[in-house]
Amino acid sequence: MIQRLIKNLCLGLLLIHIGVVSSLAQKNTNSILLHNATVIDGRSHIKPYQASILIQDGFIRAISKKKIKTDRNVQEIDCTGKYIVPGLFDAHIHLATIDLSDLEKARSATDRILENMLQHGITTVRDMAGNAPFLAQYKQEIKTGAKAGPDIFYAAQFAGPEYFEMFSQGSRIKMGTSPWERAVSDTTNIDQVVQQAKAAGVTAIKTYAEMSRELLEKIVRAARKENLLVWSHATIYPIKPSDAVSLSVNSISHAADVIFEQIPSDSLTISYAWKRVYEGMKVDPDILNPFFTQMKRNNVFFDPTVFHATNNKLDYALDILKLAHQSGVKIVAGTDWIYPENNDMVPLYDEALLYQDRAGMSRLQVLESLTYNAAQVTGLHDRGYLKKGLRADMLILDKDPLADLRSLFEPAKVIQAGRIVK
Ligand SMILES: [Zn+2]
Repeated sequence: MIQRLIKNLCLGLLLIHIGVVSSLAQKNTNSILLHNATVIDGRSHIKPYQASILIQDGFIRAISKKKIKTDRNVQEIDCTGKYIVPGLFDAHIHLATIDLSDLEKARSATDRILENMLQHGITTVRDMAGNAPFLAQYKQEIKTGAKAGPDIFYAAQFAGPEYFEMFSQGSRIKMGTSPWERAVSDTTNIDQVVQQAKAAGVTAIKTYAEMSRELLEKIVRAARKENLLVWSHATIYPIKPSDAVSLSVNSISHAADVIFEQIPSDSLTISYAWKRVYEGMKVDPDILNPFFTQMKRNNVFFDPTVFHATNNKLDYALDILKLAHQSGVKIVAGTDWIYPENNDMVPLYDEALLYQDRAGMSRLQVLESLTYNAAQVTGLHDRGYLKKGLRADMLILDKDPLADLRSLFEPAKVIQAGRIVK
């Protein structure tokens, strides 16, 4: 985990280049009729169906199998032979862990990353730790249309002081002292730091490393009081995945870390755990299946970040994802990976392909992990599927995504909050 974060930060630095930000033409239309499409809902139990969708003032006003009558002011798009799906999520990214000392550079790189995400159909992201004011500004600019990009929801990172000390070594900046990046111990006033995180605009507390079960329990209780979610690392050291799950955190991240459920708590340190992995520790279904059953029962979502894991040669993460999926755990697609600043394909496609090819998920289930489940884990009940009254975030696709997932990531049109943004 530490290695991963360091790697992310290093790669993040590499991502900063000077370049030209292309401006995205935004058609501002109040009413759009998408006529005669194959609608794929986002919830995997609903079969695709033929319908037309009327969008008004940013929301879905009607979905009907019959012809929808409209007046002349409505922009009509013939979707015969086309497919409509909800806008996609990447539910595990870090947009603001890059070097922000040169803000202009950082914003130039971020502008291009966000615009490319949107062009590939990503209309919402869950950011799992980073500089909150930086993210808050983008969120606002995207909302007003000043910038093009996905809607952003973000977390405050909480971890033990040892974690931040280890990480601050060699740096002049003391880490763990801001509302969105907080060192916490048994003597911290947890209610207060959770309130401060909330004031920084976060949706959730991300619990990260080096804390006791008692401390995690306090954080979960304080977060609930403030209507915040808790998104946890699978393993917090010495807290095991089953400790976090027994406290009903909203999600756990990283399939590769779930294997540490197999290590006794009294020896669960970061260095010992990874040593065991590099020695070739094997996935043990006898331990992990009951764990996933508990996860399902407690309604804890799972963002396995397997593209990240396989890039780091941790292929056993795929076996863990497969067990989780077979146990009925709700899977959420997130990459925890670097996004291109040019027009290249997004890593979310690689993540989705692994779900299909290596974890036994159907394409409808993969779509659900990219839409409905991702919205639910972010606490968003206004999007992630297609129903009257929801926010109009959707993609128009030329090709059937249930024949080839790539189609999801090459949308002909992207509609975000009722606006055509591609
Ligand atoms: Zn992460």
